[in-house]
Amino acid sequence: MLRVALSHDVDRTRKHYQYISYLAKSLIRKDFDNAKYQMQSFFSKDEPYWNFPEIIRIEEDLGVKSTFFFLDESIPFRLFDKKNWQLSLGRYKIRERKITEIMQYLDKNGWEIGVHGSYLSFNNENLLKKEKNNIEDIIGHNVTGTRQHYLNRDENTWKIHRKIGFKYDSTWGLTKGFGIKEDKILPFKPFDDDFVVIPLMIMDTPFIETKNHWKQYKQLIELLDKNNGILVINWHQRVFNEKEFPFYKDAYVRIIEDCKSRNAKFATLSEFYLEITENEDNN
Ligand SMILES: [Zn+2]
Repeated sequence: MLRVALSHDVDRTRKHYQYISYLAKSLIRKDFDNAKYQMQSFFSKDEPYWNFPEIIRIEEDLGVKSTFFFLDESIPFRLFDKKNWQLSLGRYKIRERKITEIMQYLDKNGWEIGVHGSYLSFNNENLLKKEKNNIEDIIGHNVTGTRQHYLNRDENTWKIHRKIGFKYDSTWGLTKGFGIKEDKILPFKPFDDDFVVIPLMIMDTPFIETKNHWKQYKQLIELLDKNNGILVINWHQRVFNEKEFPFYKDAYVRIIEDCKSRNAKFATLSEFYLEITENEDNN
C-alpha cells in the first residue's frame, strides 16, 4: 500500500529583500506585469508569505493532515555575503505572537509540529537542543521529529538527533530533482534502535523545475506503492501564494488527489513513526 506524509518547512513567513530582487529580476526579463505586482504588493498590507490559512483550508477540504517544521534561525547577518541574506534577513522569531498562535492552533487541531533545525544546527548539539526546547515550550509537549534547513547533514547529525531526543529525522532526500536517494526506498534505522530516518521524496521547487515531472512522479508512486513505501512531500509554507509561485499549489493538490485515487493512507510523520516502530514490536 502507498503511504503519504505531507509536510511544510516554514522557512519564512514574510517577504523581505525579495521585493527588491524579484522586482529587479522581472525588469531584467521585461516582465512588466510581474514588476507591477511586486510594486503593488510592496505597498499593500498583504502578506504574500503568510499562507497558513490557505494550507489549512486545502487540507481540510481534502481530509488530510500534515507536519509543519518550524525554524528557530539565529545565524548572524553578514552584509557582504549574499548567500547569508537568504538565511538571515526577514526571518521570523519563534516567540513572536503570530507564530506561537499558529503553532498552537495547528498542534491543537491535529497537525504535527516538528523542528526545522537551523542552518548551522546540523553539527551543533547545544544549538539544536535550544531550538527543540523553544518549540516544545511553545506547544507544551515534546516533539517527535525534525528536518534540517537546506537538508544540511553530516555523519554526526543523526547522533545529535538521537541524543537530544528526536525519534525520527526526515532530512534524507535529494536537493536536485526528486525521488529516492541512494536506493533508500523505505524508512531505515541508522543505529538499529528506535531512531528512524524517514526519507524525503519530493520537494516543491526541485519537482516543479524537473522536466516531465509528472511522468517521473508516476514511476516513483508505482514503485513506492509496490514496496509499501512512504511518499514524504515537502511544500514550503510560502509557496502556496499562486501569484508568487505559479503552479505550486496546483501541483500539491494534484499529488494528493492522485494518491487518494490510489487508496493511499495519509498520516503525519509522527503517526507513521509509531506505525513503523509498533509493527516491529509485534513481530
Ligand atoms: Zn528550510
